This record gives sequence, structure tokens and C-alpha cells, in this order.
Amino acid sequence: MNLILMGPPGAGKGTQARRIAERYEIPQLSTGDMLRAAVKAGTDVGRQAKAAMESGGLVTDEIVVGIIADRIGEADCARGFILDGFPRTVAQAEALDAMLAARRLKIDHVIDITADTEALVSRITGRSTCSQCGEGYHATHKKPAAAGLCDKCGGTLTTRADDNEETVRNRLAVYHQQTAPVIDHYRNGGQFRTVDGMQQMDTVFAQLCEILG
Ligand code: AMP
Repeated sequence: MNLILMGPPGAGKGTQARRIAERYEIPQLSTGDMLRAAVKAGTDVGRQAKAAMESGGLVTDEIVVGIIADRIGEADCARGFILDGFPRTVAQAEALDAMLAARRLKIDHVIDITADTEALVSRITGRSTCSQCGEGYHATHKKPAAAGLCDKCGGTLTTRADDNEETVRNRLAVYHQQTAPVIDHYRNGGQFRTVDGMQQMDTVFAQLCEILG
């Protein structure tokens, strides 16, 4: 099963993609996670991506398309994959179409997780993630039992450098200008659905599983 999860920053794509990956045993391909790893490792891609990521802008289509083209060719993607945070521009969606056609693959589901912009700012600016297991937390909605530590594995919680209010507002503006049009690229295909991302996380997950079957 090949799936695209769409939605604005903070809608819950990452959290839901992790849960889907676990339930359906297919990998989550998050371009954001891959780029952050590249920045941390100081690779060429990381050096080229860093400034755009810090400002909340987009990394070039060429870089992210290259990353995804390599990644979907890896063995663990043979049974399917979840695209989380890609495609983010119409050009990326077109490049993905070509890449899939060349491999005789298709997208089975495109799900847009919708959310309200103001709620997203407070959701994102309060969030933190376990550096060990990836579990997500929030300063008001989902506090860890011990400050700064993961309830599940005891790992240290970290906050993303681009989760400050100014950058978040820029990321949302970029989403509306460049990523929202990607929805039109998929809307008329039979595989397009939307899910209300303002609901409880478990409800969103249940609705996603209902669609995925
Ligand atoms: P995310 O973790 O999905 O919020 O992505 C974090 C940052 O990585 C974004 O604000 C962009 O700078 C960059 N990024 C991630 N995915 C893409 C993409 N598909 N196209 C361009 N830039 C991306």
C-alpha cells in the first residue's frame, strides 16, 4: 500500500504516519526527518537545506525529489510506504508521478488531514519529541510525567529549532501558497480523502484505518 499523508504543519501527519507505519508494517518516509538528519550529519544535502529549513521556507524540489527517488527504491519499501511531508509543491507531485510510473507503482490513498490555522500555531509551538523513540508530547495537551523525559522509554525530549512562532507562521504561509495547490493535483482522483485533524488523535487514527482498510 502506497500512501500520501497531506496537511498543514502541525496537523498530525508525523504522529499518524508513525502509527500507520506500525499497524501496516510499511515505512514512514518523512522528508522533514530525512533533511533534519542530513543537517545534523553535515552532509552536502544538509548544508544546502539548512537555511531554508531554519526560515521555514522550502528546500529545493531537486533535493527532495532526489531523496525520495533514492528512498522508495530501498528494500523496505517493496510492500509500500507512507509519504509524510512530500510532495509539497505541484512540481514535486509531478516528479513523483513520473518516478512511480517508471517503477510501475501507483498511489493507493491520498489523505489530507485538515486543521485550523490558529490552533496549529499553539499546537506546534508547544510540542516536543523523544530523541530516542520519536513519541510526541505537548506542553499543555500531553505533558510527560517527568519534565523533559519520555514516558515510554525515558529518552530526552527535544524541541525542533523551527517550531518557534515566527517560523511557524512562515511555514503556514508557505503551506497555503505552495502546498495547498497540490491538493488539486490529487482531488479528482478516486483515491483522495480528507480527515478532520482537529479531532482527538485516536479518533483521527481510527478514521484513517477505516479508509486504509
Ligand atoms: P517537516 O518536518 O515536514 O515540517 O519539514 C521541516 C522542513 O523541512 C520544512 O519546513 C522544509 O524546510 C523542509 N522540507 C520538508 N519536506 C519538504 C519538501 N517536500 N519540500 C521542500 N522542503 C521540505
